Amino acid sequence: MSVSEMYDVAVAGGGIVGAACAYACARRGLNVALIERDVLGSGATAAGMGHVVVMDDSDAQFALTRYSQQLWKSIAPTLPASTEYEQRGTLWIAADREEMEAAERKFAWYSERDVSCRILTTRELQEEEPNLAPGLAGALLVCEDGVVYPPTVALELARRAERQGATLLVGHAVHSVGQNRVVLDNGSEIRAHRIVLALGADSARLRPGIPVRKRKGHLVITDRYPGYVRHQLVELGYLKSAHSVSTDSVAFNVQPRQTGQLLIGSSRQFGAEHPQVDQPILRSMLARAAVYLPGIMRLKAIRVWTGFRASTPDKLPLIGPDTSDPSLLLATGHEGLGITTSLGTAELIADILTNQTSAIAREPYLPSRYTPEHQDHTQGENHELDWSHAGLDDGI
Ligand SMILES: Cc1cc2nc3c(=O)[nH]c(=O)nc-3n(C[C@H](O)[C@H](O)[C@H](O)COP(=O)(O)OP(=O)(O)OC[C@H]3O[C@@H](n4cnc5c(N)ncnc54)[C@H](O)[C@@H]3O)c2cc1C
Repeated sequence: MSVSEMYDVAVAGGGIVGAACAYACARRGLNVALIERDVLGSGATAAGMGHVVVMDDSDAQFALTRYSQQLWKSIAPTLPASTEYEQRGTLWIAADREEMEAAERKFAWYSERDVSCRILTTRELQEEEPNLAPGLAGALLVCEDGVVYPPTVALELARRAERQGATLLVGHAVHSVGQNRVVLDNGSEIRAHRIVLALGADSARLRPGIPVRKRKGHLVITDRYPGYVRHQLVELGYLKSAHSVSTDSVAFNVQPRQTGQLLIGSSRQFGAEHPQVDQPILRSMLARAAVYLPGIMRLKAIRVWTGFRASTPDKLPLIGPDTSDPSLLLATGHEGLGITTSLGTAELIADILTNQTSAIAREPYLPSRYTPEHQDHTQGENHELDWSHAGLDDGI
């Protein structure tokens, strides 16, 4: 067994979250090692949609997505063209009057918080997106939301970390972490003052007991149809089924890529751990898309794939010190928002490691919210984690 030099920080996992953490830490002068089993930007980062989106499910979710979106906007001009960042805006589509009321409530909530957005009538929506089905009630346009190509961003962030002095260890699987040590599957050991666990949906495999479950998703990509849609399109309908206890769900979510291709999503499944395409889920996802874009079935799909989100019971990520090992920090559990929130997460991790105050409150994301003491305080003596909220469809 070989033992390395002592790093300030070892980041386990080179998806977008790990790469962003490595870069943020290296930028602050820390001596960083980034360890990735496959290629940089694999895992959910390679499977995700790359919608950079502000969300309003909770104040904490809003704070992290909004902060991250601003970080995306500031880094965007310096990103290479391969990262395909574009500020497309999100159209939250209302199918009927009830959903239009939800759009108006969202509009008021965002406007109070200075998020640039506007309501589109049926006619305005049709003008913006002529391929949408006629007769939809309208939409909320959230203007600053963006689109990126996540694997190339992860690679770029890792390369930036390397230019700041970080060591990239690619092709090495982490076998165990803890007590200032990362043991690789070839038996070699990396020592670090602090270890950041950024293994996405695989995090609980190395740290059993942390409240992260795999949540499978499917995506389809089409051939090139430039201009077929112009914004990220998402249905608001998920609000109606928000109290469904079903673990499988699909929602209309379509993204225009810079190549002219359309990325079509999305699905959510708990308990499906195999990566194979699930035909009934795929069919119902495409049928849902056809309700909103009736011509979509005539487009040529060229690839379908699946990926696993790292889901937590309260739909917020785990960012901060592990509760039992002081050398370990968690940066995982980002579910369907980890591309968006990677940059904000990295800043919070780097703030913790350099004892800096953060731009947003860190408490809502701390792993300590799941300790029995904290659960006693908030839920009485019942220590069962409540996953029912994680089963809700987030619409993205
Ligand atoms: C279908 C789908 C659509 C999505 N759409 C969006 C979206 O539009 N917007 C958005 O913000 N988010 C989206 N997400 C979520 C987003 O993709 C994830 O939250 C994000 O990629 C998580 O990044 P990560 O770095 O934490 O994890 P991952 O990307 O999974 O990275 C973990 C890395 O750790 C590595 N690893 C695992 N085990 C080991 C080990 N033992 N040793 C070494 N390395 C290891 C993996 O190879 C991987 O590279 C989507 C996800 C899915 C599945």
